[in-house]
Amino acid sequence: MTNLTHLTLAEALKGLENKDFTSVEITQAHLDAIEGMRHLNAYITETPEIALEQAKASDERRAKGQAGLLDGAPVGIKDLYCTKGVQSAACSNILRGFKPEYESTVTQNLFDEGAVMLGKLNMDEFAMGSANTTSAFGNVISPWKRKDGSNADLTPGGSSGGSAAAVAARMALAATGTDTGGSIRQPAAFTGICGIKPTYGRCSRWGIVAFSSSLDQAGSFGRTVEDSALMLQAMAGFDPKDSTSANREVPDFRAASLNTSVKGLKIGIPKEYRAPGMPEEVEQIWQQGIDWLRSEGAEIIDVSLPHTKYALPAYYIIAPAECSSNLARYDGVRYGLREEGEDLIESYEQTRAKGFGDEVKRRVMIGTYVLSAGYYDAYYIKAQKVRRLILNDFLSAYEQCDALLTPTAPSAAFAIGENEDDPIKMYLNDVFTVPASLAGLPGMSVPAGLNADGLPLGLQIIGRQWDEEMVLRVGATLEKAANFKAIPEMVESKLAA
Ligand code: GLN
Repeated sequence: MTNLTHLTLAEALKGLENKDFTSVEITQAHLDAIEGMRHLNAYITETPEIALEQAKASDERRAKGQAGLLDGAPVGIKDLYCTKGVQSAACSNILRGFKPEYESTVTQNLFDEGAVMLGKLNMDEFAMGSANTTSAFGNVISPWKRKDGSNADLTPGGSSGGSAAAVAARMALAATGTDTGGSIRQPAAFTGICGIKPTYGRCSRWGIVAFSSSLDQAGSFGRTVEDSALMLQAMAGFDPKDSTSANREVPDFRAASLNTSVKGLKIGIPKEYRAPGMPEEVEQIWQQGIDWLRSEGAEIIDVSLPHTKYALPAYYIIAPAECSSNLARYDGVRYGLREEGEDLIESYEQTRAKGFGDEVKRRVMIGTYVLSAGYYDAYYIKAQKVRRLILNDFLSAYEQCDALLTPTAPSAAFAIGENEDDPIKMYLNDVFTVPASLAGLPGMSVPAGLNADGLPLGLQIIGRQWDEEMVLRVGATLEKAANFKAIPEMVESKLAA
């Protein structure tokens, strides 16, 4: 039998439909793969009993001819999603052991379509980070290694590092992620897979632990554009329980992901994304992407997004401001960790001092500062105004083009420990992903090639609001042209063994 963990999600669904194998078989193959790759620390909670029970139920449904969109397909769930009865800790000590009484809308949607949950995936604490080094459950290690023989452990990116590592290392057919400022797109780029963040409001945030509510958005990881589209299809949809969820039809994302024609489309190249000091290899892969789209018949247009340079500073005011407010609920009274002090205030202080990690504390402090009387106008209101200007930039660009093409991240994956000395250096990772987040636009990363060290580089497509179909279509065209087939050596050698 073919190695079941190396199928794409689409191939796996076909195989299940054709009864080439059962869901129990493909689920077990993934549980075995997880066991073999535990050193990557991608999963913080494995749920084999749930997985096998769901797989069995799926096989029974299939026997009766009642399969849903993802029926029987084993996937991984980022720990930020509340899953009923299963620890949902957002990888924070303050929520360690927290087992929700309810299911998030997105995971419920996945289960309603027959998806099988393999476990909960590691991530940066409360989704704050770009290297998966802020998790209270330890770092995630990328399955990729540099070719230089240094053997350094690399980051899978963050904050959805566990999701990206699991999909890249064939420990899940696909996975959920969340993206507030780049947490799906950057890890997808670092690990050579696809990741899509849809338009803000496309997926319900209900039951997803809040970081920055005006930016947080659920999305998916897959090894192909089609797989990411299939996942997103199942995840998306209106939810009356989330007031920012959009009451709109979910388009046929899968059909869009199979359309590889860009003839006559106008693709905008924003000149401000040519960041000073950007490595040559990133510049080259971007040019390669431009050439691919042009040779497929797209018209390439230079556009300007003049406020791009203010996106990162605005993001690092707005996101901490919202996080300081959202995280005020962790007081030791209602959830997770409780430290007893002399009085209530001291109990709060001790609980929060012990429960939150350094990066979370840094952001809560920045957030309360920029929201405080006297600084609110100078920082928070100013950042909100900048946010509007950034959106306006995109809107005027989209008068001339149908989608934008940029690099996903300013570098390939770096070693764990690098960039840790200076938070600003870490924040710079988000320079290309944050603008679309501030504007609420859909964005996707597609693997485009390898750098000289043998590490993946990704290209980002940014679309108009609600136009994920265009993003997927351009993504699929790039995917076809790039024909990216590289898989991490440690995964390949497992396959050969
Ligand atoms: N790296 C960014 C941050 O640390 C984005 C995180 C995210 O998208 N969740 O805020």
